[in-house]
Amino acid sequence: MTTVSERFAKDNYAGAVLAVLRMRYRCRSCGATFASREALRAHIRSKHPVSYYAPRIGYVSALVLVALVGGYLVLAREPPAQAVGAPISGIECWSMEQVAYHVHAKLEVYVRGERRTVPANIGIIPNRCMYWLHTHDATGWIHVEAPREIRPTLGQFFDIWGQPLSRERVLDVDLVSSGLGMRVYVDGKPYDGDPREIELIDMR
Ligand SMILES: [Zn+2]
Ligand SMILES: [Zn+2]
Repeated sequence: MTTVSERFAKDNYAGAVLAVLRMRYRCRSCGATFASREALRAHIRSKHPVSYYAPRIGYVSALVLVALVGGYLVLAREPPAQAVGAPISGIECWSMEQVAYHVHAKLEVYVRGERRTVPANIGIIPNRCMYWLHTHDATGWIHVEAPREIRPTLGQFFDIWGQPLSRERVLDVDLVSSGLGMRVYVDGKPYDGDPREIELIDMR
């Protein structure tokens, strides 16, 4: 698949370009996500050989494995998290990072050929709470980390970021008065709908 940056360079488009890449294959052991089934398989084989080979081992060994994992879960259980901050557009801010549901999407924003930074720590209020949509670094990866499966949208992420998002205005750019258009790509394909409605979901 051509990357968003390659496609953008090819387009050489002067307006705003918004690209969202939703990860397709997630590792059930560590939450890492991959763009292809082959990449996920290679990751599991090298990083989690036990889960890769477990289905091939006998019944008794599997029972032992279950007992071990069960013991680990009991030990690893943490005190209950709770909603702390005010929800933004229905997305809650909890006292601890939630990882029961954990998927990622990458966001790239360009305006007039310049890549705009999606900053680190969007949705993280230090020593207080973490929104279920947040960033840990400035690479553009959006983390969806919630206590249950949710279907958040890019619009909700921009609301938590505190930035406007529409075909008329994105970040500090008034596209209408600047005479600029917007191109949106979702998973590498052109998208003509409302960018706020793009779902940040697991594509498995
Ligand atoms: Zn996180
Ligand atoms: Zn994450």
